[in-house]
Amino acid sequence: MICEEIIMSHKKDASGLRNSVDSGDSKHVQTKIMSDIMRDDVETIKDPVNGYTNSQEFRGSITLFDAIPHQDSLDKLCAAKAIETDGRNVRLDLGKCIMCGRCQQAAPDIFLIGSIFETPVKVRQDLIRLSGKLDSQGQKPYEQMGKELKEKTSKILRRSLAIREVDAGSCNGCEVEITALNNAIYDIERFGVHFVASPRHADVLLVTGPASRNMEIALRRTFEAMPDPRIVVAVGACACSGGIFGDTYATTGGIDKVLPVDIYVPGCPPTPQAILYGLLLAVDRIEASKING
Ligand code: SF4
Ligand code: SF4
Repeated sequence: MICEEIIMSHKKDASGLRNSVDSGDSKHVQTKIMSDIMRDDVETIKDPVNGYTNSQEFRGSITLFDAIPHQDSLDKLCAAKAIETDGRNVRLDLGKCIMCGRCQQAAPDIFLIGSIFETPVKVRQDLIRLSGKLDSQGQKPYEQMGKELKEKTSKILRRSLAIREVDAGSCNGCEVEITALNNAIYDIERFGVHFVASPRHADVLLVTGPASRNMEIALRRTFEAMPDPRIVVAVGACACSGGIFGDTYATTGGIDKVLPVDIYVPGCPPTPQAILYGLLLAVDRIEASKING
């Protein structure tokens, strides 16, 4: 996630680099690649902290229109197998969707990709969409959600929220967004959220990746080492369902095939706002489990 000022400073740098390449200095071939990247920058959000309107280029959600599919092969174009159709109705699994945009290109009368993030849910079934657009209740500015999280955490836990993060075979895209939570812009620690090294100190297990079979035992052991109530948050399409990796000889097909998942955060990858919203739901789960024993 890149703020406007950073983009602007990169643009200035990029134009300088471009000049040196154009002047024939072969030492700077590598910098030409960089300048090309800078020229095609995608600004994902204008004001990450106080706004929630992402750039139009950012793909975060899908609206499904009630149009009759004009192609029998609509489901075959989705590499993540997120689309199912019987020729009349379309069923979209947002837990699998990697927001590639191919469905919108092929059938713009049915699919519309939007730039706001899909709302995390407590029940996997709630990520299945038959029609309509997303529930926008989670679309609050990051700062506002962070303050809500801080209040809830101090009321329910009477201390900070401790998170253990496990990468169970992700491409690292989700980790980049999780890491962003700790950068100077998002700075999640000011809301009383800490990433901890040991599962014995953790309230929440944040997991990314499709749960590769090589990580299955490590994941179970991490969960077993946590004190109750241990809340599991699956971050990203891979963690929700296996995503683009699916269910193969090397992957289990989602974290809930290995552990009981409490919160599903869709997206590929989900934004820091979406992950923060998932943590808000996680604190609700902690409260519910304290009440129910
Ligand atoms: S945007 Fe999602 S549903 Fe559409 S083709 Fe890509 S993965 Fe499938
Ligand atoms: S959900 Fe997307 S970004 Fe996250 S690990 Fe899977 S492929 Fe990578």
